[in-house]
Amino acid sequence: MLRIGAHLTTSKGYLAMGKQAAEIDANTFAFFTRNPRGGSVKALNEKDVNSYHEFASQHDIKDLVAHAPYTLNLCGKDEKVRNFAFTAMEEDLKRMEYFPGNFYNFHPGSHVGQGIDKGIELIAEVLNTVMFEGMKTTVLLEVMAGKGSEVGSRFEEIAKIIELTQLKDNIGVCFDSCHLYDAGYDVVNNLDDVIKEFDDVVGIEKLKAMHLNDSKNPYASHKDRHEKIGDGALGIEAFRRIINHEKLRDLPFILETPNEIEGYKEEISLLRSLYEE
Ligand code: FE
Ligand code: FE
Ligand code: ZN
Repeated sequence: MLRIGAHLTTSKGYLAMGKQAAEIDANTFAFFTRNPRGGSVKALNEKDVNSYHEFASQHDIKDLVAHAPYTLNLCGKDEKVRNFAFTAMEEDLKRMEYFPGNFYNFHPGSHVGQGIDKGIELIAEVLNTVMFEGMKTTVLLEVMAGKGSEVGSRFEEIAKIIELTQLKDNIGVCFDSCHLYDAGYDVVNNLDDVIKEFDDVVGIEKLKAMHLNDSKNPYASHKDRHEKIGDGALGIEAFRRIINHEKLRDLPFILETPNEIEGYKEEISLLRSLYEE
């Protein structure tokens, strides 16, 4: 069964997101754990959380992929930047405990001239401080496009971060089709090879979720500009192969395409029509 959803807005609360997911025929979804630009957290409304859980179990909505704010940089040069990342992530992971068994995905960070190795070290340091024994969330490192000084656009970098992370059972990886292609992993023409390489370097069992985005830019351009499914450099056939691939087909898939809710509904319907049950 295809598990698919889109990135939804949190502004009306959790139950509202669950209902919106159901309306667009989604059985999972993503959301920002806080305003992507600012840092403030809304106090958690427990009644809303409980209503959400009831609704989600009735509608088989699960495997949520919460997204950390883009402004989070675990390997910033400035201590203030790292402290913000630390505080935000710590709070987010505590809040995620109200949604046990889901995922929390984040961009590893940008090393801003400190070098990849230093970046990797700083990222692991924050992870080892904010993650805690017995946590019910799996933290996911997103594979990046390799824009600027981004860490995590090579599988080797992802593997290194995981290697340095203490709570191995609670760390995993989130693919993003646009980022992979942009980073130079040819998911259009060599999907099998990319997956084989990931398995060799990181281990396929670490792959827990995938963002589905087409790309506005050609192969290996390191730009990270998402496009609607089928309208970009990847094309619709690539998505047919991705969602049906034996190593990927059971992952939760999340759309982060430039769409309003109606557009997501259409893309979900399109992808469902391509999925071989
Ligand atoms: Fe992301
Ligand atoms: Fe993404
Ligand atoms: Zn992106």
